[in-house]
Amino acid sequence: MIPIIAPLKRRKLPIEVAKRYHDMIAEDIRSCDISLDNFTRTTDEAHYEIAKNFFKKLYDDGYIYREDIQQLYCPNCNKFLPDRYVEGLCPVCGSEARGDHCEKCGKALNPTELDEPHCITCGTTPVIRDTFQYAFKLSELEDELKEYINNNENLPANVKNYASNWLEEGLTDWILTRDMDWGIPVPLDEAKGKVLYVWIEAFLGYISSASQWSRVSGRKWEEYWNDYVVHFIGKDIIYHHSIFWPGLLKAYGCKLPDMIYAGEFLSLEGEKMSTSKNWVIWIADFVKDYEPDLLRYYLTINAPLNKDSDFSWDDFQRRNNDELADVIGNFLHRTFVFTKKQFESKIPEYTNPTEEDEEFRAAIEELPDKAGEYIANYEFREALLEIFKVAKKGNKYFNDAEPWKAVKEDKVKAANCLYLSNQLAKTLAYMLKPFLPTKADKIAEIMNLGTLDNWEDAKIPLPTGHEINKAKPLFKKIEDKEIEAQKAKLKENLKENEDETMSDLVTIDQFDEFVIKIGEVKEQSKKYSKRFREDISKNPEKYKNLQVRVCGWNVLWNNINKVEQDGFIKQAEGLI
Ligand SMILES: [Zn+2]
Ligand SMILES: [Zn+2]
Repeated sequence: MIPIIAPLKRRKLPIEVAKRYHDMIAEDIRSCDISLDNFTRTTDEAHYEIAKNFFKKLYDDGYIYREDIQQLYCPNCNKFLPDRYVEGLCPVCGSEARGDHCEKCGKALNPTELDEPHCITCGTTPVIRDTFQYAFKLSELEDELKEYINNNENLPANVKNYASNWLEEGLTDWILTRDMDWGIPVPLDEAKGKVLYVWIEAFLGYISSASQWSRVSGRKWEEYWNDYVVHFIGKDIIYHHSIFWPGLLKAYGCKLPDMIYAGEFLSLEGEKMSTSKNWVIWIADFVKDYEPDLLRYYLTINAPLNKDSDFSWDDFQRRNNDELADVIGNFLHRTFVFTKKQFESKIPEYTNPTEEDEEFRAAIEELPDKAGEYIANYEFREALLEIFKVAKKGNKYFNDAEPWKAVKEDKVKAANCLYLSNQLAKTLAYMLKPFLPTKADKIAEIMNLGTLDNWEDAKIPLPTGHEINKAKPLFKKIEDKEIEAQKAKLKENLKENEDETMSDLVTIDQFDEFVIKIGEVKEQSKKYSKRFREDISKNPEKYKNLQVRVCGWNVLWNNINKVEQDGFIKQAEGLI
């Protein structure tokens, strides 16, 4: 979902911004070897129809009702302000907050609750006016939703706790419509100029995507939806997915989601990521330098479900070198090279095993079920940890068995070691397929395994005499100098971004740095602010309600100077 105000900030049409992100994300998904049955966006005609019909049914069934409300209105823009078009201070914690949500304390807000509100388009302090919208009777569904959350064993702890806390506080009805000039129109004659709020319409994207899938696959969409629904979301939208969406589905009479998986936040080098500050690593850039498997691995192994995680280049290097290269890569390479050299590339016999052999064999055999259970429970990191535990065991077993010595003194011991090591290598190919698909396929190629589609095949041992191919190392270490270069590039991007503050365009983040109330400007750049101060003193009425957020006074003035004085406010709007 694209932030509702993104088009406004980038001076682009909503559809242009939507298309740009859609294409970018589609390419990221492709480049990271993620396959999807359907990847879509909510501009599809069928989506409009589905969303309107859904709303209409809930309205006809009495779940949606018209409500006279008070809403913020910008007298300068002459329009009611949807909640993301207002910012101000959070009434709970005092931080800068958006109209619907405080990022700092997580509180969902109503824009009229904000202290010191301002219109994000023009900076004017909005006024409260009477209007009407359509509300959803969420409060009526409280008991049913409590039942859904509390008795759902599939839900992970972070989702359950968060939703329960909300339910404890009691649910209130939820306004489902907004006054906007783009979006899906409310399907009622009396509702001219009103559109469906994103938090009903975007959800229905799940259903309309299932219907697109149905058109392509020729199967019924209900088949898809009624099978097993899992939502993968970020933790900032747990409330919407665990309470609001199930509430809408319940009211309509649809099956509720079976599982909601909420990832925690990911920071970069200890700092919050920011696309506007360029404090970010774009996937398109990452995959130019490294295989996508490495990113998939790092993000999975580094992301517990109970706390935020961080991407740092040093840690990425450490995990690649110490874990992928030293544990997995080393084990596989030794096994393959030794099999080729001492056993003519064929899996040797397994005879008269020792206790250690049998213990290791048991660990290999148990791995698919253990890792599989974790994956089935969405505990992906735990599955990887289990796989690594056995791979480490493999390295120790290989070291202890010393096949390079045994091959001369005790051929049976060496043969047993290589028989089992090859069995583990094969099992690893299957186990790593969901995490490192390209590497797993390479192992399969070396070992002549065919496709790795069936997890159960991991349990079938390779027969003695099965031939493997010549192998090259599968993982390579990342040098310090590469990592230094990546860190320097990241800092360079940030610096370039800072330099741009001296150009004649102001980014939205720079605007966010300072709030200057025009009426109170006292000490600004003498050169530029003098004319402006004079204008304020001559025309106080004109600037009465105006707040402009700027970082460099000269930057703003350079821009506004290009237009007529009367055009000033227009230009400032354009900049935001
Ligand atoms: Zn305004
Ligand atoms: Zn707050």
